[in-house]
Amino acid sequence: MEYMAMAIQGDIEKVALLSFQCIMCGACAAKCPAEISQPNVALLARRLYGRHILVIPNSVYQRISDIKNGRYVRVLDRLVQMDREELTHVYTLREQEPQDDRGWAPKHPDIPEESSGEE
Ligand code: SF4
Repeated sequence: MEYMAMAIQGDIEKVALLSFQCIMCGACAAKCPAEISQPNVALLARRLYGRHILVIPNSVYQRISDIKNGRYVRVLDRLVQMDREELTHVYTLREQEPQDDRGWAPKHPDIPEESSGEE
């Protein structure tokens, strides 16, 4: 209900952030006497937030450029060849980039090369 209050106020960013834990089950919509589909409100706010409000970190543009230039072709080939255990290991090593990426750099920039000891 908190994110719906923000939706009524037109605060898309707060709707997106407050609705983050909504799993879109629809239970609230099924019981809503006003026949409002709360999860659809949350979904719309998240999409609007991601497309028009959220500032894309510079590192995302760098990563896109790297992909276009073929930097990860070998990495992807290696990932495809890994078994489940190896993939799980690499997945657990991954780092999540903070929204404010100023000064941030990954500790393992070239996973899986670095994690496998090959290259
Ligand atoms: S759809 Fe409604 S009931 Fe389901 S998690 Fe989201 S807010 Fe909660």
